[in-house]
Amino acid sequence: MPKEDYLVTIGLEVHCQLRTASKMFCGCPVRYGDDPNTLTCPVCLGLPGALPVLNAGAIEATLLAGLLLGCSSPPLVKWDRKSYFYPDMPKNYQTTQFDLPLCLGGSVPLYDTAYPKDWQKKIRRPNHAIGLTRIHLEEDVGKSTHHPNHSTLDFNRAGTPLMELVSEPEIESPEEAVAYLLSLRQILIYGDLSDADMEKGQLRCDVNISLRPHHQSQLGAKIELKNLNSISAIRRAIHHEIDRQSSELDRGIPQIQSTRRWDDERGETALMRTKEDAHDYRYLPCPDLLPLHTADLLAAARLRVPELPHQKRARFVASCGLTEYDAGVLASEKAWADYFEAAATGATKPKSIANWIINDLLSALHAASLPFSQNPVSASHLRELASLVDNGTINGAQAKEVFAELFTNGSSPAAIVQAKGLEQVSDSAFLDDIITQVLQANPDAVAKIRAGNDKAINALKGQVMKLSQGKANPKVVGDLLESRLNA
Ligand SMILES: [Zn+2]
Repeated sequence: MPKEDYLVTIGLEVHCQLRTASKMFCGCPVRYGDDPNTLTCPVCLGLPGALPVLNAGAIEATLLAGLLLGCSSPPLVKWDRKSYFYPDMPKNYQTTQFDLPLCLGGSVPLYDTAYPKDWQKKIRRPNHAIGLTRIHLEEDVGKSTHHPNHSTLDFNRAGTPLMELVSEPEIESPEEAVAYLLSLRQILIYGDLSDADMEKGQLRCDVNISLRPHHQSQLGAKIELKNLNSISAIRRAIHHEIDRQSSELDRGIPQIQSTRRWDDERGETALMRTKEDAHDYRYLPCPDLLPLHTADLLAAARLRVPELPHQKRARFVASCGLTEYDAGVLASEKAWADYFEAAATGATKPKSIANWIINDLLSALHAASLPFSQNPVSASHLRELASLVDNGTINGAQAKEVFAELFTNGSSPAAIVQAKGLEQVSDSAFLDDIITQVLQANPDAVAKIRAGNDKAINALKGQVMKLSQGKANPKVVGDLLESRLNA
């Protein structure tokens, strides 16, 4: 049967590296790019007898994530050992949380701007939220690198605080999975909890997918895809897995619980191992760490709750007069929203500022391959540019020229206008002369307009603009033309 005849159920497990100064159970710094194995100590190397000490900042950050996502937190939490062997984790267990995690319940709202662009008009469940099962805190492992004849290990990353957010199996499509991850990323960045940069591995995602026929209430076998590290990989891998599983089910091949690896180049998944349940990991309470009362850290986290993306969006609509769409775009990146607020403060028309950012600045940055952090246009310069247009000093075409200059050399808009002699001309005596020339040179057009063809006026307007070398105020030209033609 066609794949549409199967119900698709998706759950996501997201690992997020918290932005803390030191590691989860020792004082080693958390940093990237240092020489291998220079940020280590007996604790994060897992040497026998070394004792862990909890990082209160990482716990508070996880509790804050829970508050942002509407979770509850048990009054008492504890740490457990998850037993397994990996060369990059020589203790043979990972310190994590099993039955008493820091956060329970809650949900992740699916923001419309977080869906893939080609899907934003096809959103099946607008304003939907996906339930969270839990958020727990654990330690990251080291990093193995495989060479042709040997492997190397770097323990600089070992022990970095890692927050794991587990969703309920409520996601219904690859596009919802993308929206879930990007909405979650927005919220984590708003909370200042992580840079959540997927390219740097700060946000990693495992996806569970199962298919079942519409008439079957029990979920199908869960297939887990490990370590998907880009948004496009997540979307393509889930589409591939839906196709693969539905075609196997069609041919009577039952699916069994298993873990698969996504090969991004080949565009397909391959089996890694079958069946893996919690009991395989022999969780046991960590004897080195006492259970922890969360009340004090939770109270501290409460003081740090920021305005969230959807709240900012609503405020931009209500108090700055932006459209839902523009407000949504600006709120989708905290850096954009902060810049908009800085530029719009004291501006006569915040809407003009939003237009400049969305229509001009973001595309100029994209064309120049610059990240927003290297934006050469200061917020006050953008406000100045917008006000030069709004108060009639320069027209729209001239403003684009000023913007281009602003983007490349960064001097003030007023100085650029002066240096280039760009001020638009609204002086009616000067414009009247040009209009007289244009009307005399185009008797046919004048006759058409007087006969009721209003559109012909645009051609005349264009000629006046051209004769003024683009300096005329288009609105004044329009008004003058109309009054001359109606005389
Ligand atoms: Zn250490």
